[in-house]
Amino acid sequence: MQLKILYTKSELEAWINDQNSAIILIPTMGGLHAGHQFLIRKAKETLNVNNPIVLVSIFVNPLQFSAKEDFEKYPRNLKRDSKLASDSGADAIWAPNVSEVFPGGEDYHFKIQVPLILNKQLCGANRQGHFDGVATVIIRLIKLIQPATLILGEKDWQQLLIIRKLFQELSISTKIESYPTFRDKNGLAYSSRNSYLSNFEKEKALALPQALKAVIDEFNTTKTINLSKATSKLKENDLEIEYLKIVDAYTLKEREDTNSLCLLAAAVRCGTTRLIDHTFLMKRKPIIAIDGPAGAGKSTVTKEIAKKLGLIYLDTGSMYRAVTWLIQRDLIDLDNKKMVDQTLKNLKLEFQTSNEGKQNILINDIDITEQIRSPEVTSLVSKIASIESVREALTSQQKSIGNKGGIVAEERDIGTVVFPDAEVKVFLTASPQERARRRYLDLQKRGYQSPRIEDLEREIKERDLQDTQREIAPLIKAEDAIELITDGMNIKAVITELTQIFRSKIPKEIWPTP
Ligand code: AMP
Repeated sequence: MQLKILYTKSELEAWINDQNSAIILIPTMGGLHAGHQFLIRKAKETLNVNNPIVLVSIFVNPLQFSAKEDFEKYPRNLKRDSKLASDSGADAIWAPNVSEVFPGGEDYHFKIQVPLILNKQLCGANRQGHFDGVATVIIRLIKLIQPATLILGEKDWQQLLIIRKLFQELSISTKIESYPTFRDKNGLAYSSRNSYLSNFEKEKALALPQALKAVIDEFNTTKTINLSKATSKLKENDLEIEYLKIVDAYTLKEREDTNSLCLLAAAVRCGTTRLIDHTFLMKRKPIIAIDGPAGAGKSTVTKEIAKKLGLIYLDTGSMYRAVTWLIQRDLIDLDNKKMVDQTLKNLKLEFQTSNEGKQNILINDIDITEQIRSPEVTSLVSKIASIESVREALTSQQKSIGNKGGIVAEERDIGTVVFPDAEVKVFLTASPQERARRRYLDLQKRGYQSPRIEDLEREIKERDLQDTQREIAPLIKAEDAIELITDGMNIKAVITELTQIFRSKIPKEIWPTP
C-alpha cells in the first residue's frame, strides 16, 4: 500500500475516518533511522490487532527543547523520512507544523508538569522542561489521533516511564508497547543525533555502548559493579560524561545494591552531540506473584500467562498435594510431629517441563504428576496445608525455586510473604456477584445441580471473610500490588491485561517474550 503523507489536522481527521482497523501511533521527531524502522516493523507485526494501521507522526516539538538546545538544526528531511517509513511498512505519516498541534501557539494550551520525583533524575536533571514538553505533546497527539496503541522505544527509558505514569494517572485507554534499543552492528544505538557525528566522532562514540557492556559483563559473572573502568574508557575517548549512574529502573533513584531491576544509564557529549544509552542489571529472571481471593480464576490465568511469557508456573497447589501424597505413602502419623518434621526436612521438590510443554512435578526425584490428582490426596490436602510446619517448609522451597526467578506463582500470600521482591505483583479479584455467577455457570456446564446464585454469593462472601481473618497466610493485598478486577472480562482479556502489566514493569530488552 502506498504511504499517505498528511500535513494538516483536517487531512489527519479525514484519513482516520477512512480507517477500519485500530491505529498504532509511533510518535517521532523525524530524522528517521533504522531504530524507528524497527519500531514500524514491530507495529505491523502486532499480533493482537488485526491488520494494524501504522501512523508515524513527525513533529519536532519545540516544547521539549531548551533555548540552548538544537531545535533549529534538528534533522528535517520529509522526503528521506517518507522513504524509510514506507520501506518498513508504515501506512501514513502525519507531519504537522507547530500551529496544527498547538493552534495559536503554546501559550494557548495547557501544559503537563511531570512529577518531580521522575523529572529530577537522569536526563530531566540536565534538560529543564524537556519531559514536561514531551508529556504535553503526547497528550495532544493522543487527543487528536486516539490510537489504540502507542509504540515507544525503551531507548528513552525515562520518557517511557513518564508516559506510562501519565496514561495511568489520566486513565488514558491507549495501550503502550515498548521495544528494545536497536543498534548498529558495531553496538552504537541508532539515534537521529548520530547524523551530527563526523566519522572520527562515530568511532569515539562507540566507547559508550562498549563501556556499558563491559560493566554488564562483569556484573553477570561476578555480581559486582565497577563504574571506574567505564568512566575511564569514556574519558579516554573524549566523551564528556553528563551522568553515568546505576539507578532503580522504576524510581530512577540512585542505588548502591542491585537487588531489584536496575538501570545503568549514561549521557555523554561527543563533541557537541549529546548521546544517551543504557543497559539493565538484573540479579535473577523476573517473578510475577498473583494473589487474590478464591474463585477469581488465579490458577487458570497463572498457567496461561506462564505459557505466554515463557515463565515456569510455580504451581504451589501441586506442591501441597505432593507433600500430602508423600505423607500418605509413608503412612506418616500427622500427630507425630517428629516424623512430620523429618519428612519435611528431607523434601526435594522440583518442576520439570516435558518435551510436549507439559509441566511435571517431582518429589524426591519421583514424578508424581498424575498421582497427586487422586481423590485420596484431594480429600486430605487442605488439612495438610493448614499444618504450620508444612506451610513453612513449602514457603522455603518456593523461595529457593524463586532464587533464580523466571516464574509466575499464585497463592494467597505469594506477593506478601513468599516473593515480597517480585517485580510484578497482581491482586486478581472479582466481585462476589461475578464469582458466584462464574461458579454457577461452571457447575451447570459440568452437569451438576447448582445452588442458587444468591447462596453461592453468600458462601463466597463468608469464605472471603474467613480468608482475610485467618492466622496463617491471610488474604491481604500487597501494598505494591496492582489490583485487577476481572468483572466482565473473559480469560483472554485478563491475559492481555496481565501481559500489559508485566510489560509495564519488565523491559523487552531483558525478557523478550512474547
Ligand atoms: P525520536 O524521534 O528520537 O523522538 O524517537 C521516536 C521514538 O523512537 C521514541 O519512542 C524512541 O524511544 C524510539 N527510538 C529512538 N531511537 C531508537 C532505537 N535506536 N531503537 C529503538 N527505538 C528507538
